[in-house]
Amino acid sequence: MKFVFFDLDNTLTDRKATISAYADHFASEFQHQLIKDMPKGYLATVFNEIDNGGYKTHKQRFTAIAALHIWLKPKKIDELSDHWQQWVPNNSKAMAGMKTCLDKLLTMGFRLCLVSNAQNANNQRAKLKRLLIENYFDSIIISAEVGIEKPDKRIFELALKTMKANVAESFFIGDHPINDYQGSYKLGFKSIWLEGSHSWPQNLNLETPLKIKHLSELCPLIEQLKKVKYKLVG
Ligand SMILES: [Mg+2]
Repeated sequence: MKFVFFDLDNTLTDRKATISAYADHFASEFQHQLIKDMPKGYLATVFNEIDNGGYKTHKQRFTAIAALHIWLKPKKIDELSDHWQQWVPNNSKAMAGMKTCLDKLLTMGFRLCLVSNAQNANNQRAKLKRLLIENYFDSIIISAEVGIEKPDKRIFELALKTMKANVAESFFIGDHPINDYQGSYKLGFKSIWLEGSHSWPQNLNLETPLKIKHLSELCPLIEQLKKVKYKLVG
């Protein structure tokens, strides 16, 4: 095995912690435009609910924020959108153990690639810069730039081609059972599911996935898989 392909949000970044940090920044920046009696932590909770782990369109997200009963005067959706685009990446938080895991993989001789679904590629690149990890990856593939989204097999094929990688030598790590795990698994990757953001869908016709709960488990699992010849059923 020579290659590890990663999802970004909720795999290498902790989106919930990021949105919570953004909510604190938001509360401070808009303090004179917001009602005064919000309970502590209210914005972080409600922003994370609205964000739904990043699985909302921009329009849905900012329409929902503008409609919250937090504003002293009506707020323009465009202003909320601009603020989010700038400050969410700037508040990016790493998933626990991210840097150690990436360092170890490079030490183990792996080459790394990022494959991310995103409506705004600049945001994803800003997150990588903020977390100081852009140079870890030989290739960074963002759906908004290539016009294909996971789980479409063409984005996985493109990632393999860009890395000059053979799928039989490639791991794929992500938090989304369908976009990351099933999408890569169908193509022949050794897929590993990072649990915690999504539940495993009942109707997903796959055997129990290879899974980890924390990035610190990834390198030990990969070392184990490299030693033991194994076969996934599915
Ligand atoms: Mg993800």
